[in-house]
Amino acid sequence: MTTTAVMRKQLFINGEWRDAAKGKTLDVVNPATEQVIACVASAGASDVDAAVASARAALDGPWGRLSARERGRLIWKIGEKLMEKADEIARLETLHNGKPIFESRQIEIPAAAECFQYYAGWADKIHGETIPVKGNFLAYTLREPVGVIAAIVPWNFPLLLTSWKVGPALACGNTVIIKPASQTPLTALALAEIGQEVGLPPGVLNVVTGPGSEVGRMIVEHPGIDKIAFTGDTSTGKGIMRASADTLKRITLELGGKSPNIVFPDADIEAAVRGATTGIFYGKGEVCAAGSRLLVDKSIKNEFIDKVAARARKMAPGDPLDPKTRLGAISSKKQLETDLRYIETAKKEGATLVAGGGRVDIGTGKGFFLAPTVFDGVTPEMTIAREEVFGPVLAAIEFADVDEAIARANNSSYGLAAAIWTRDIKKAHAVARRLQAGTVWINTYNVYDTAAPFGGYKQSGFGREMSVHALEHYTQVKSVWVDLNQ
Ligand code: NDP
Repeated sequence: MTTTAVMRKQLFINGEWRDAAKGKTLDVVNPATEQVIACVASAGASDVDAAVASARAALDGPWGRLSARERGRLIWKIGEKLMEKADEIARLETLHNGKPIFESRQIEIPAAAECFQYYAGWADKIHGETIPVKGNFLAYTLREPVGVIAAIVPWNFPLLLTSWKVGPALACGNTVIIKPASQTPLTALALAEIGQEVGLPPGVLNVVTGPGSEVGRMIVEHPGIDKIAFTGDTSTGKGIMRASADTLKRITLELGGKSPNIVFPDADIEAAVRGATTGIFYGKGEVCAAGSRLLVDKSIKNEFIDKVAARARKMAPGDPLDPKTRLGAISSKKQLETDLRYIETAKKEGATLVAGGGRVDIGTGKGFFLAPTVFDGVTPEMTIAREEVFGPVLAAIEFADVDEAIARANNSSYGLAAAIWTRDIKKAHAVARRLQAGTVWINTYNVYDTAAPFGGYKQSGFGREMSVHALEHYTQVKSVWVDLNQ
């Protein structure tokens, strides 16, 4: 592994790079080497005020006056630039998050670029309607931007989840303040640079880095911000919901999950084994939609878990910058400790460890690496079956028949995603309808497309990201009445 020089990064406000007014900074650590790789400005109240003022001025100024088509062109160019710089940005994503460069370069950065280009196409297709009202009136609607949007983003897919918010926000004519996670601010700052290069007017895209408990809270309480688009922990989301009540902000929340991956005995078993492993180990399991509960019919359970455990044992974590690596470093020491705590709790509560279970040294003596972990014999009351671990830790639970599979799948406060593995097409669709989840995959897992909506049922949040549905959350509707009587 190579050592990188410490990068110095500033806030991006009103089209300018600047230090935090109080000169505070925060360190960014590479979780694969435990080295500080960047020193980033840590904003305070006056920086947040400046970002809000510049976002408001842009809304009322050059950005607000730009034609929708011209706006779309600029957003398209952001996607183009992301791909031109994909190698550099993927490297940053891997350095601050620990994910394999394969995932950053081949999956996440292209998906973020595609998201901008998808929404670029929408910019000049967002419009109101004429309404046949009673009386001699012309009544029509205007679909207007909500205003200043704050995007509060977590550390698991730093650039992609930013693009899911910024893409539709800009397409609808809003201005944006991004608050990246403190662990992973580098790619949001790279996006700000791209915004500058493509010629976004000052104030349209601002990046304010700093701790969520301070800067995040200031943003949520700020009267000059109209909407919060948040992805992260359910408890943080609940706090944001409470704290935004006083200023009556619009909010969309994309929160945690404990998604069931259901395997029926008539499934293509080899495909289901692959789906069970990628469902939990892709992204180190730090994926809100991770298939962390593997529900398997008891007639095939032992054979199935043996195959899953064998695959898990073969998936050794490695240097995230090595293109061959498929399992990187856990994103932080704190998250590694959380994962290990859940593993210990599962053992104490009687689950059977069949693969992994401990920290791994990849030969450097450094880094937060965890072996892919599989627990068999999990019962629905166990902590590992109920709480989101957010790591490469799989909990296998058996079921006796379709009704029990559905009852167990829905026995969760979360409802983000679910998957069904069966060759019986009627059963697949019938079960999909009965699952309480925002996304249901049939005979596949973890597939996404900007054109398809994503979001939660129950405590996995509300609002939809991506697709045409996201546009509703970034626009408001105005009714206009014209009296046509002489
Ligand atoms: P958080 O939800 O706390 O962080 C997500 C974002 O919210 C970060 O930008 C964070 O800033 C910010 N934030 C934190 N507190 C506040 C606040 N009071 N007001 C406004 N913004 C705030 O997640 P954690 O990083 O603490 O991770 C904890 C757990 O959350 C994980 O173990 C996992 O279970 C879950 N999680 C779920 C995700 C998902 O995609 N559903 C994503 C990430 C985590 P900062 O980084 O500076 O704290």
